[in-house]
Amino acid sequence: MKISITSKLDGIRSWSLQALDTCPGSIDAGELVDACKGCYATTDNYRFPNVKAPRAHNKLDWQRLEWVDDMVLELRKDKFFRWFDSGDMYSLGLAEKIFQVMTLTPWVNHWLPTRVHKFPKYRVVLEKMKALKNASIRFSSDSVLGEYTKNLHGSVIIPTPNDIKKGMKLCEAYANNGKCSGCRACYDKKIKVIAYPAHGVSMHKVIRIIKAA
Ligand code: SF4
Repeated sequence: MKISITSKLDGIRSWSLQALDTCPGSIDAGELVDACKGCYATTDNYRFPNVKAPRAHNKLDWQRLEWVDDMVLELRKDKFFRWFDSGDMYSLGLAEKIFQVMTLTPWVNHWLPTRVHKFPKYRVVLEKMKALKNASIRFSSDSVLGEYTKNLHGSVIIPTPNDIKKGMKLCEAYANNGKCSGCRACYDKKIKVIAYPAHGVSMHKVIRIIKAA
């Protein structure tokens, strides 16, 4: 498998797939949902072949019989792990395997953001993941204006840090050169909702268009 290391995440490792074509929850009524319209994973350096190739590799690789065992071995020294810096659990089979990896690596704090909660077939496996002590499963809101459903969503985009509301934990990476800088809130299942200030030219353009409509 191809593991990525993202400087934004203080060097915490992640496993990802190519965005959009593995993101069934990115489409609603035939249109990209707002949060995915300016998705960072379809722009900038995510377009480069050296970033795309490992994600394409992983899409085939997870289907190997030995993949779960190999992932468990790979994670033997990790304290934190991020699933899907880009992409999502497009397959129920993949979700079941990730659940097995989480179960077999109790020393790792897993963070997994997803939009597949929109599909009933994922309900059972997502409930199983959520019941694990070492897994923070965050259902992403489609809003870029800070709208979310309490007790359902675990993350949402807000236009600016000033749009933070009660009940949300502000992601302060924007104040630290875009890096987590020791914060591990996303991996902490006690923290119910994280609010990420929009970043990137595309996302701000999307917000301008939505606000003007
Ligand atoms: S909330 Fe904390 S852990 Fe999550 S992305 Fe922001 S800085 Fe990183």
